[in-house]
Amino acid sequence: MISVGEGQAHVLARVTSVTSPELIPVPGALGRVLADDLRAPFDVPPADNSAVDGYAVAGSDIPAAGTAALHVIADLPAGSVFDGAVKPGQAVRIMTGAPMPAGTDTVVPQELVERARDQVKVPTTAKGSNVRLSGEDVRAGAVVIEAGTVLRPQELGVIASLGLPQILVRQKVRVAILSTGDEVAEPGDPRKPGQIYDSNRFALRGLVEQAGGAATDFGIAPDVRDELRARLLEAGRAADIVLTSGGVSVGIYDLVKDVLGEIGGIDFWQVAMQPGRPMAVGRIGEALFFGLPGNPVASMLTFLLFVRPALWKLAGRRDMFAVQFPAVATEPMRKKPGRREFKRGVLTFGARGWEVRTTGPQGSGILTSMVAGNCLIVIEEERGDVKPGETVLIEPFSW
Ligand code: AMP
Ligand code: MG
Repeated sequence: MISVGEGQAHVLARVTSVTSPELIPVPGALGRVLADDLRAPFDVPPADNSAVDGYAVAGSDIPAAGTAALHVIADLPAGSVFDGAVKPGQAVRIMTGAPMPAGTDTVVPQELVERARDQVKVPTTAKGSNVRLSGEDVRAGAVVIEAGTVLRPQELGVIASLGLPQILVRQKVRVAILSTGDEVAEPGDPRKPGQIYDSNRFALRGLVEQAGGAATDFGIAPDVRDELRARLLEAGRAADIVLTSGGVSVGIYDLVKDVLGEIGGIDFWQVAMQPGRPMAVGRIGEALFFGLPGNPVASMLTFLLFVRPALWKLAGRRDMFAVQFPAVATEPMRKKPGRREFKRGVLTFGARGWEVRTTGPQGSGILTSMVAGNCLIVIEEERGDVKPGETVLIEPFSW
């Protein structure tokens, strides 16, 4: 029996490479992983510029009290640049974002002045106000976004602001997904007595895509040695990670074990956790292999705990684990010391801050508990039963 933490460390130790970089257009880069540190090629903003619509003046022309009359020598429309120099007693009408004319250091907002023809009366204003300084956002040469960052909308905006139409990201991790077992039927097909519809392949595909991977569907492998072997070999050639579900605890256990033993390697793990104890980790050629438990909640959970960190490491991400934070349990929770337990929880914000209750029955086959929940409740190995009012860790399903 190994702990969840040991299992995660073993899995990450097996990931020794990162997917290759590829250059893609910025508009398609949401959720992708930045391949190299992004450095600013120039100062942002590139020049001192006005933060408001108003009048650019020299600080020395601003009165200490009352108003001063200045001569307006130019009315600059948006986007145009004043290429002369402003002398004492002069002002230039300027738009937000326009570069500051030489000789000026302050912008008086237009709503504070009185303008009559080419005369403007400016009130007392702090020297240097309403000016954005060059480089105040980003200095030329500075790292703006670190390698391994998952690109959010704001990163796409920053990349575009540096004038870049394309960006170097990591190729998506390719994940092949197959289900095993003659008791599993394809949705859309008639279901024979004793069969259940395959849910794992679909939930796992969603998890892969949500984690930024590219999923390939390898269908349901029958409990036939040669077919299983051919299917796994093909999956291993096509993908960086091969996922099966089912067959780890009973049924085709021996088949998966034998076949993997021949075409790669396989270790069986008993992880001290609930749900999702038995799983297999191995290799098919270059690909990482995970044999996840058949029970639907257990297969999703083992994905989140073991497969996703591997996927994220392979994808070059800096963060490989999801955020967890404390919440107050609002109901008693049964817990056996000696293993880490994961319950499906409903997290709400209440009188005591973040509060959490379970979704109800917690059997590892009850997939609707994942539907009713919005988080995992993570109860550490050493703990026993949880009393209402105690703090537990929670991990939101999406963040
Ligand atoms: P196993 O790991 O094969 O012993 O399966 C444990 C439980 O998970 C059994 O009740 C199986 O019917 C169920 N199961 C296995 N594969 C799937 C699947 N692809 N979709 C839904 N349930 C499954
Ligand atoms: Mg089975």
